[in-house]
Amino acid sequence: MSDYTKMWSSIGLDLKGHDALLSVLGNAYSDIFLSQKNRPQGMKYFDFVMSEVHGLRIKELMDAKAQGRKVIGSYCVFVPEELVLAVDGVAVGLCAGAEFNFEGAETLLPRNTCSLIKAAFGFKLGKVCPYLEASDVVVGENTCDGKKKAYEIFGPLVKDLYVMDLPQTKSEMGRALLKEEYRKFIKKLEKVSGKKVTVASLKKAVEIVNAKRKAVKRLAAIRAADPAPISGLDALLVNQVFFHDDPIRFTDSVNNLCDELDHRVKNGTGVFPKGTTRVVVSGCPMAVPNWKLPMLIESSKAVIVGEESCVGERGSRFLTEVKGNTLDEILDSITDRYFNIDCAVFTPNPSRCDYVKEMTKKLHARGVIHYSLQFCQPYLMESGPVEKELETSGIPTLRLETDYNQEDAGQLKTRIEAFFERIKRK
Ligand code: SF4
Ligand code: SF4
Repeated sequence: MSDYTKMWSSIGLDLKGHDALLSVLGNAYSDIFLSQKNRPQGMKYFDFVMSEVHGLRIKELMDAKAQGRKVIGSYCVFVPEELVLAVDGVAVGLCAGAEFNFEGAETLLPRNTCSLIKAAFGFKLGKVCPYLEASDVVVGENTCDGKKKAYEIFGPLVKDLYVMDLPQTKSEMGRALLKEEYRKFIKKLEKVSGKKVTVASLKKAVEIVNAKRKAVKRLAAIRAADPAPISGLDALLVNQVFFHDDPIRFTDSVNNLCDELDHRVKNGTGVFPKGTTRVVVSGCPMAVPNWKLPMLIESSKAVIVGEESCVGERGSRFLTEVKGNTLDEILDSITDRYFNIDCAVFTPNPSRCDYVKEMTKKLHARGVIHYSLQFCQPYLMESGPVEKELETSGIPTLRLETDYNQEDAGQLKTRIEAFFERIKRK
């Protein structure tokens, strides 16, 4: 990596803490990703992106800012990238996937807060996330109670926190609330960017984001093949890079990877032998660099063939189907698209479990591993009924609750291996 020290200092990063984070990230990346056998050549692009995730990509963001474009950071897939692109902004996901400075976070938050929220605070207080520091606006959303209350404390820590309300039920009123929130968000974006959302800019933005989602949907579908042409770890990485990379370049790179995977499928080439135990992982999002669980699963003679998660199919399976030619009609289509997302913050939320069943069937998975972060009430609460429904439908399910710490890795591995034994006996 080139020397980006000057750039990091200029955006206010704490260089010592940032170096420590980068060194842990770099070591984990080579141990977990680069050590995999028979990886597709197309993953080289994603290795490069990861090696420059705090370097070249941040330089691109700074160049965009110098040209007057605004960087909009967000923590949730309910924040429409289409609206950000429509004012020529740059949308970035704010990763919160590592246990960094939790002691700092716990001075402001209760200890029994999920790791995702604690990491967001730990990164901010430790000044180690260049995406967060480069963001002109940080968008928070009222999803779970943890996030909703945490944003009240987060607000004074960042330059411009914009909080978006979200519905909790899939009702007509819920949809109307979402549309109104998106309308208000457009106003905010127009104000900070000084640019107007037009029919043409919004249509173009929808096209770019749809193409990006189509590419990851293509990748998701290819994973139905046995032998699996790509590991679950690499596919997760692609889904994680989704939130950081330039959307057009990302789309091209995923499509190139998929072309290679199509050849692999045709030739019967895989990363694991044919017949390897196949599982779907369902639950909380896994933000970079949260790779613990997939690594434990795939080092236990199994392959992950799908993620029912916001960093995965829940976040990307729906496309925006534009009906109409006015701004209001396009906004309706965008609202419909996002209102489909079956996050556990909705009550009731039956379509999520239905989709896990559908994924299991179409990806020929033998079981489901349900992943909840410790203290995440929505997903932990939903995990019991989801397990019951899946087991009743004949799908073996393992419920795991963990955090970003490595201390429970041995215990988790034992449970995962016992689960795979159970699947094999079935
Ligand atoms: S799990 Fe829910 S709250 Fe979290 S990113 Fe996904 S949609 Fe947003
Ligand atoms: S939904 Fe769960 S994992 Fe996501 S922020 Fe809330 S408590 Fe944390």
